[in-house]
Amino acid sequence: MEHDEGIVHVLDEQVASQIAAGEVVERPASVVKELIENALDAGAKRITIDIAGGGRELVRVSDDGCGMSPRDAEMCLRRHATSKIRTIKDLDNISTFGFRGEALASIASVSRLELRTRRPQDEFGFVVRAVGGEGVEAAQCAMAPGTQVEARDLFFNTPARLKFLKSAIAEHAAITDCVERLALCRPDVSFRLNNNQRERLDFPRASSLLERIRQVFGDKFANELVSFKFAAERLLVRGFASRPTLSFASSRMMFVFVNGRPVRDKLLSRAVVQAYAGLLPRDRFPAVALFVDLPAHEVDVNVHPMKLEVRFRYPGAIFEASYRALRDALAGQEAATDGDDLDVTHLGPLVCSAETEVRGSASDKAEGTSSGAQLLSAPPSQPGLRLVVDRSPGQVSAPQRASVSSSYAFSPALLNMPNRTEAIDQPSVPTSFSFAELRLLGQLLASYIVLEGHDGLLLVDQHAAHERITYEKLRAEFKSGGIKIQPRLVPYPLEVSGELALEVTSAVSAFRTLGFDLEAFGGRTVVLRGSPALFGPEEGVRLFRDLLDSVGSDGFAVDNLAACEAKLKLLACHGSIRAGKTLSQEEMAALLRELDQTPFNTNCPHGRPVFVRFGLNQIERLFRR
Ligand code: ADP
Ligand code: MG
Repeated sequence: MEHDEGIVHVLDEQVASQIAAGEVVERPASVVKELIENALDAGAKRITIDIAGGGRELVRVSDDGCGMSPRDAEMCLRRHATSKIRTIKDLDNISTFGFRGEALASIASVSRLELRTRRPQDEFGFVVRAVGGEGVEAAQCAMAPGTQVEARDLFFNTPARLKFLKSAIAEHAAITDCVERLALCRPDVSFRLNNNQRERLDFPRASSLLERIRQVFGDKFANELVSFKFAAERLLVRGFASRPTLSFASSRMMFVFVNGRPVRDKLLSRAVVQAYAGLLPRDRFPAVALFVDLPAHEVDVNVHPMKLEVRFRYPGAIFEASYRALRDALAGQEAATDGDDLDVTHLGPLVCSAETEVRGSASDKAEGTSSGAQLLSAPPSQPGLRLVVDRSPGQVSAPQRASVSSSYAFSPALLNMPNRTEAIDQPSVPTSFSFAELRLLGQLLASYIVLEGHDGLLLVDQHAAHERITYEKLRAEFKSGGIKIQPRLVPYPLEVSGELALEVTSAVSAFRTLGFDLEAFGGRTVVLRGSPALFGPEEGVRLFRDLLDSVGSDGFAVDNLAACEAKLKLLACHGSIRAGKTLSQEEMAALLRELDQTPFNTNCPHGRPVFVRFGLNQIERLFRR
């Protein structure tokens, strides 16, 4: 096929829109998301979503927001029609959900769309209709102030896209998820979702985030959450996180919001998962609602067509603040409710709080002096905002910390430097709940310590408890230069197999940081000169043998976090009181006292619970009272 005049041509508007729509409108839930975001941007306080056929047959979003003039109603269906930005510079200060002017045009191009809108000051409303993006009608109509956008027969003109849609049930689930996410970031707005005319979700306006969480996930769930907060001059990290007693098989319950925008962010997900390291069993995930607010120019929201991803200017600082805020809250945790709540109305809608931050830091911006470290620096007193400073600023403001975690992973080299072992440096906030103060009832089956709790019965797993205590002690020593060694009065010779001897010989210094002082003569005999002071000399020999038995493919190296933790866990596990050991009253009391002094005392290092409680309710139910 030859054309003299050439073969390159510009696509007509409709084809271009349909192609562009592919990026924004992936499935019915994306329509719901865009329309709700528009309603929120329009200042709506009440949003109703109606869907049919999993959203493919119908998505209708009605709001009581500011509405549009007839002219704007016709304009807004065009591609790149937006009221939210004018110049590219405005992108630095986005405080609305939308700004690309693509959503309505995209939705219109792949559906039969009807938009009705009325501003409060207008007498009539205005309705525009389009089919596959082609305007077919525009007329006056009667309606209450606000906007209602209805998209029917999604993908009717793009059969290829239609094929990829999942079942109506799956699409309904995705829509539910989307409404819940947006409802979580705006507790001050009421949301209602009806599917095939049956009410499915109903979240009345809430006065706090916790109240909204209750509406979305129920009381039982909300009671298992603790709040966390880290506030610096220009960075606010806050939210709710599940106690280690609650966990999920997937990360579905991890909600992350940046400047009030629901996002999927690998960095922040990682901060969450890492904050729970050692608190949850393997392959289990927490429930977390994490809100990060920072000046709009510190984050790029224009990196994803659906605006699901963001890019931070100082990822390290954000990671650090989120990880620490969570870790601190979890360290001070026990299973009682503290009734703490975040007063969102006080901070105003989250989108607005970002604006506040921007205004507050306008002078810094002009000088271009912001840095990751400054993001973390303490706020000046701002009585109007009532931000809580949970920690002394010196603890996190060191710039090198920010850069350490900006690589997103802990650097193995850190572990070799005794005074900079960040990776295993964790805060030790004493628990508000004291085991030792509870009445000690005795020992059960030589394995569990029985206590009278504030509200029933408490069983403490003696091995899990001691394991956590031992682990934390070992870790504290390890991070301050190496585990303390108790020299043996009589050096202890051990025979090891040929290959192992070689491994051991080359790892003498690694063993020393783990508390074992060895002399290797090159042959098969290794002489143990000292073992961790935390354990007795006989136990030291046994633990050394256990370490030798556990040698993996990477030998005895302790040059990365995982390897170190594995070895400390092994020592803690093998060196702790076992189940089946009868304990005296004094021994139990001493164990409980130590447990009180230990961070992360709700779970053993492998993530199993240290204690379980049987509440009065539960006991009474068993007795059918
Ligand atoms: P964007 O949200 O990126 O600006 P959209 O295509 O979603 O682009 O919307 C285009 C414009 O239409 C918006 O900028 C806004 O001015 C107007 N608009 C859309 N939905 C509503 C609504 N529910 N209420 C009032 N105005 C709306
Ligand atoms: Mg929009």
